[in-house]
Amino acid sequence: MLQIFYSEHYNIDLGLLNYLHPFDGTKFKKVIKELKGISAVDIRSPSAPVSHEAIHDFVDDLVRIQLNDKKTVLRILEVPQIPLLPFSYLAKKILLPMRWGVAGTVDASKAALGGRNCWNLAGGYHHASQQSAEGFCLYNDIGIAHQELLKAGLLKAHDKILIIDVDAHHGNGNAQTFMHNADVTLLDVYNQDNYPRTAATRGRVNIPVLLHTGVGGSEYLAKYADALKQLGSGYRIAYVVAGTDVLDSDPIGGMRLTPGDVVARETLTFNKLKSMGVPAVFLGAGGYSKLSASTIAAAIKGLVR
Ligand SMILES: [Zn+2]
Repeated sequence: MLQIFYSEHYNIDLGLLNYLHPFDGTKFKKVIKELKGISAVDIRSPSAPVSHEAIHDFVDDLVRIQLNDKKTVLRILEVPQIPLLPFSYLAKKILLPMRWGVAGTVDASKAALGGRNCWNLAGGYHHASQQSAEGFCLYNDIGIAHQELLKAGLLKAHDKILIIDVDAHHGNGNAQTFMHNADVTLLDVYNQDNYPRTAATRGRVNIPVLLHTGVGGSEYLAKYADALKQLGSGYRIAYVVAGTDVLDSDPIGGMRLTPGDVVARETLTFNKLKSMGVPAVFLGAGGYSKLSASTIAAAIKGLVR
């Protein structure tokens, strides 16, 4: 049984403005549609978006101000400046859906600590940190979940946490968030020719798998399988930043994996964590091609088969 975290509020629909970004903001509901009727998936919805208080507790003052500034938010979202567009529109159409996405990661984390394997269709905002919001990521959902679990007493300060990042891009936000926390292990598989290139955050990764533009599925999966063998033990929870921007059809990731390769990757991760006895929280992360939603659905079906 796999618990899937999804809310209709995750979907970002900007109507006529959808063309401004390659991100398919409504892919979440497409995944859910494909999972209908599968008894081994248990679909749960967060009851509310993550609170402003939780976000304010997490981010620095500068980021808190930036997240209320239209120009900065449009830059973070990598879309052109739009005159006359009120900030309230962005808040409702983009910031609020992402706050729901963070709530999904918080709720999935709680379920995982109760021993369940989980998949939040949103979240995986791995370019955001306390000090920065960038790369279409407004809030670092793993960092906020970690903070909320500590507050609730569900995690202790030195509990070991694993973050496996298999999105095509380096997870600079997670590396920055946990830069000085040696209890958090980072395994990151990424295209080193791509954004983000910050040496300090790349250097924080405990187990890096460095790949180049054009990498195919067999090289990716072989190197990833080797990296999984280097993991330690004793993790309370594992986050999997499961971006589908590794697909050949993706306009941004620069990799050449097939949907079948992604299904094989998620199965490899799931079986490894299962053998280690570590509950998993898979997260949506990047994925900008038309095949993204069907690939995620196929991967989930593969895990519950
Ligand atoms: Zn990415």
